[in-house]
Amino acid sequence: MPSTAAVIGAGPAGLMAAEILATAGIAVTVYDRMPSVGRKFLMAGRGGLNLTHSEPLDRFLDRYGTARDWLEPAIRAFPPTALIAWCEALGQPIFTGTSGRIFPKVMKASPLLRAWLSRLAGLNVAFRLRHTWIGWSPNGAPRFDPATNEKPDATILALGGGSWPRLGSDGTWVAQFPDAVAPLRPSNCGFTVAWSDHFRARFAGHPLKRIALRFDAIVQRGEAAITATGIEGGVIYALSAMLRDRIETAGPATIHLDLRPDLSPEQFTERLATPRRAQSLSAFLRKQAGLSPVAIGLVQEARHNGADTDLASLIKALPLRLLTPRPIDRAISSAGGLRKDVVDETFMLRDRPGVFAAGEMLDWEAPTGGYLLQADFATAVAAARGALAWLEHPLPPAYRPGDQGEVQ
Ligand SMILES: Cc1cc2nc3c(=O)[nH]c(=O)nc-3n(C[C@H](O)[C@H](O)[C@H](O)COP(=O)(O)OP(=O)(O)OC[C@H]3O[C@@H](n4cnc5c(N)ncnc54)[C@H](O)[C@@H]3O)c2cc1C
Repeated sequence: MPSTAAVIGAGPAGLMAAEILATAGIAVTVYDRMPSVGRKFLMAGRGGLNLTHSEPLDRFLDRYGTARDWLEPAIRAFPPTALIAWCEALGQPIFTGTSGRIFPKVMKASPLLRAWLSRLAGLNVAFRLRHTWIGWSPNGAPRFDPATNEKPDATILALGGGSWPRLGSDGTWVAQFPDAVAPLRPSNCGFTVAWSDHFRARFAGHPLKRIALRFDAIVQRGEAAITATGIEGGVIYALSAMLRDRIETAGPATIHLDLRPDLSPEQFTERLATPRRAQSLSAFLRKQAGLSPVAIGLVQEARHNGADTDLASLIKALPLRLLTPRPIDRAISSAGGLRKDVVDETFMLRDRPGVFAAGEMLDWEAPTGGYLLQADFATAVAAARGALAWLEHPLPPAYRPGDQGEVQ
């Protein structure tokens, strides 16, 4: 009889763990509470499916901040080159954007997921959807609603974080680990800003292109978007962990936006020295500073709120007071999860031999840029390899260290 494994959670981490275990000849059953698999993965595909990033691996690893040391062995063993090779082997060629981010050429997840599911079907992976994991049976087997009778030889938990709960990962699993979890918190999230009614009505939904954001000594260039409740988007997400932590400890945080990072303060002072004459402020800023309507709106909002610096300084360093992070259910990802000290180096739970954890349910966070999916996949590969070792089952050739572009 082959060994059996339960993989709980059919997101990218769970499906990757299932693939490796099944390739090794393990009889795998994947459980998920939702009626279909990979819902958040498909949602990530709506933004182009940024799979990973092309920057040098050492810099890449720095993106995981304090979790770098923990994740490094898994990511070195299944680095971006391995993820790209895997994606291309499923018939999805990739391309690298000007920012260094890597996407499948089709810029969506559905063809990749379809090909992946057909590979898993070929490996006889069984799926039990609409099955919610609710804890452990007295004999140590995972318990589900509705109940099942299986007692797998190994279990991989890949239950995801707490963002976008309607896609399946609602974070309720944390109740099963009262002493092992760092609280789930929003990561890569927007922030609330007390916009005036006028500004909100006029500019909610407008993009702020090619801006720079400064917080403390950190400057980040990119894009953002005004929302009815505040501000979100790449440049905000990049600093969101820091901003969230600062707000938690010290209350509202003020960031500064440079609305024209391509022009120096001197160039602005010169451009804005031209007499305004009968022009409205808005026409003057559009002509002399080349500002978009939403950027002009921000300048006017700041002046309305009492900013008394000259226009040039305001355009180069517009203060914006961020009140709170937006709730976790609207964040791209979550921080927190199962802590490093409760799993061993193969991601096996120390107090539950034979049970492994992978993906976003582990306590790490990273900015957007492909770092999330890369760590989801890499920890899944590591946990599945750990499970095979624990079952004393040989690794399938395709997943032995040294194959798939692993860095030795
Ligand atoms: C809008 C959006 C865009 C994104 N874009 C990108 C991107 O471009 N690049 C990137 O790197 N990352 C992106 N991400 C993040 C990425 O999608 C996640 O990091 C990834 O899906 C996490 O994978 P996972 O397998 O760990 O968990 P999930 O994908 O969350 O899967 C967990 C699964 O577990 C199931 N589950 C949860 N609890 C239970 C239970 N009790 N019983 C049974 N099943 C359960 C859920 O239904 C779910 O199917 C994006 C996220 C969002 C929301």
